[in-house]
Amino acid sequence: MHNLDLAAIQAEIEKVNSSVELEELRLKYLGRKGLIAQMMSIIPDLAPEERSQAGQEANALKNQITAFLRQKGSSLAGPEPKATADALDITMPGIAQELGQMHPITQVINEICDIFMRMGFSIVEGPEIETEFNNFTGLNIPLDHPSRDAFDTFYLRDTTKLLLRSHTSPVQIRAMKEKKPPLAVVVPGRVYRPDATDASHLFMFHQIEGFMVDKGIKFSDLKGMLEIFAKSVFGPDIKMRFRPHFFPFTEPSAEVDISCVICHGKGCSSCGRKGWLEILGSGMIHPNVFKHVGYDPKKYTGFAFGMGVERIAMLKYGINDIRLFCENDLRFLKQF
Ligand SMILES: [Zn+2]
Repeated sequence: MHNLDLAAIQAEIEKVNSSVELEELRLKYLGRKGLIAQMMSIIPDLAPEERSQAGQEANALKNQITAFLRQKGSSLAGPEPKATADALDITMPGIAQELGQMHPITQVINEICDIFMRMGFSIVEGPEIETEFNNFTGLNIPLDHPSRDAFDTFYLRDTTKLLLRSHTSPVQIRAMKEKKPPLAVVVPGRVYRPDATDASHLFMFHQIEGFMVDKGIKFSDLKGMLEIFAKSVFGPDIKMRFRPHFFPFTEPSAEVDISCVICHGKGCSSCGRKGWLEILGSGMIHPNVFKHVGYDPKKYTGFAFGMGVERIAMLKYGINDIRLFCENDLRFLKQF
């Protein structure tokens, strides 16, 4: 019923020389107001028995014209452009990916743990949310001890029994409750104290705790192992000294100094003209701690020590501001 000549349309499309002309023809036949659309628009007005055939014819015509247009379109576009010789040079070296590295604190933790593992210690970790018992009472820190005060410890809201551990020592309690001697354990981990942040304080920092319990453990065992530790970290030439001190969980207790790594003992601003730098606290585990975990203090003795990892790292690398460890400045981090 239509009066469109398919051969004529094909010839018309074949004559086209540009994609602009081709688009004009597409609109003429297939556009929203094109001839096919016009054919479709009169179908509802036809007699019911004619509608189906008219629709089929219009669709067939549309498909034919679409095919002609597509064929002409691809011949106008021409062959694919050839790849130029320099588009890809497979002999060029690839672009190197930058490798990440471990944070200096992680490196120092690993180094310290490795030293003690070589001496037979095993690594144990504990939760950062602790009970008041494990953090204080079990370690012989009495109720009226100043560090028990809420100002020195982050307690969890709505409870006075749970807190963010203020040292790694509660893992001593956990490990000793779990196992009978002999025990030789190092405990790396994060600890929390409500200190104002400055060049030497953070409210979250890292500690490494170590302890050994068996029959006949002596203070000289502690001294010997700490000397191996200090010389491994700071070099074989450093000197070491023990100063009497007080900790509730050890008796006797001692702070350990090394000769200043900057002035080698002569006295400088880093060591406050003393020639010595404090690196850790230590002592023989208090009999009350053994009683809390069910060890017989007449049968067993042991030593314990604890150190701040940031402090060790600062002394080892000559870093003068603890905040540098948490600023994630790559210029700082890449030096380690
Ligand atoms: Zn010094």
